[in-house]
Amino acid sequence: MAMTEKQGGSDVRANTTVATPVHQSGAGELYSLIGHKWFCSAPMCDAFLVLAQTNDKLSCFLVPRWREDGTKNPIHIQRLKNKLGNKSNASSEIEFRDAHGWMLGEEGHGVRTIIQMVALTRYDCMIGSSALMGQAAKEAIWHTSGRSVFGKNLHQQPLMKNVLADLAIEAEAALAITMRVSHALDNLDDPKQAALVRSATSIGKYWICKRAIQHTFEAMECVGGVGYVEENVLSRLYREAPVNSIWEGSGNVQCLDLLRVLHKEPETLQALMAELEQARGQHPLLDKHLEQLNVAFKDSENIEMRARQIMEQLALAWQAATLFIHGEPLIAHAFADSRLSTQGFHQYGTLPCHIDCDAIIQRAINQ
Ligand SMILES: Cc1cc2nc3c(=O)[nH]c(=O)nc-3n(C[C@H](O)[C@H](O)[C@H](O)COP(=O)(O)OP(=O)(O)OC[C@H]3O[C@@H](n4cnc5c(N)ncnc54)[C@H](O)[C@@H]3O)c2cc1C
Repeated sequence: MAMTEKQGGSDVRANTTVATPVHQSGAGELYSLIGHKWFCSAPMCDAFLVLAQTNDKLSCFLVPRWREDGTKNPIHIQRLKNKLGNKSNASSEIEFRDAHGWMLGEEGHGVRTIIQMVALTRYDCMIGSSALMGQAAKEAIWHTSGRSVFGKNLHQQPLMKNVLADLAIEAEAALAITMRVSHALDNLDDPKQAALVRSATSIGKYWICKRAIQHTFEAMECVGGVGYVEENVLSRLYREAPVNSIWEGSGNVQCLDLLRVLHKEPETLQALMAELEQARGQHPLLDKHLEQLNVAFKDSENIEMRARQIMEQLALAWQAATLFIHGEPLIAHAFADSRLSTQGFHQYGTLPCHIDCDAIIQRAINQ
């Protein structure tokens, strides 16, 4: 996809790339594109979905690498980005100089058309960040189980056990909601599943991608100094983590999208709340949390200002509910006891003392 321009990433309506009809105008017709895209990843692809203006209407185009006559479509790669991480995915700046492309969808419905792919790539971000956390937790457990410090292996020391178990819980909770969205995506014919996808993807994209950044750092710290050097995979996982949060709609954009969809499509809120309500009665802290959520939704004052608070409350409730409904009770209870408690610690390794860290670590190794 090539959407982002210098002046408009989140706000793609500010795009200035222009498309002019080659013969006739309208859906399915051939256009010629002139303009510049500040970000275009995987520029070696055979085709791109591109947003461009037609008579001040933002439309979507399928732009191939090669023209119908076998000549190269003039898409010039100006330079590759020098990025913090995500190095094995080439990202570039490109220029269209009379590049040919066919209009997809109706004229002026560019966002509505391209959002079908964007919604799936937002889901990809959930998968990617869940996978980063899964690998990070396992690397940390594996390393500490072979590292002896002060006469005992690290993974047997109470404080390290707390950190490792906490990382394992987070990774499993992330995977649980990612798989829940997979199930909904596989059943889009069911209107309730389709409605759930529209809110759940924003929540998952926002929350998992942000949690992965702190998570991969904490796993790196478990490995110590060797985790920080490039020979070890943890430094790479850490550098990879932030991109999933920034691209395909950054954190605030996910929050605003969620507010918009809940406001405009009331069936989405109903589907989401029905999903959460299935877990009512499983844990007193979850029940209390659901009450607080209901109050938060009733109050529309300053809702944009409070959007991250609501997003976080929803994410925690949904992760807990998913673990109780579909997951392992050991993890579900540990998640609720640690994440829904009013104590609100901010770092990993702050699980309450009654949690069976050995069992959680063992489960993470076996998975
Ligand atoms: C490695 C990488 C690869 C990329 N690949 C591609 C690609 O292939 N194709 C493509 O089209 N783009 C790509 N992008 C671009 C990416 O999608 C954008 O950078 C992203 O959408 C944010 O847009 P922006 O950079 O213009 O930031 P801005 O739109 O300027 O946003 C800056 C910040 O403001 C926040 N914000 C925006 N609006 C509001 C608001 N109303 N209220 C509060 N906060 C707000 C955003 O959440 C963000 O945190 C890539 C980016 C990266 C880092």
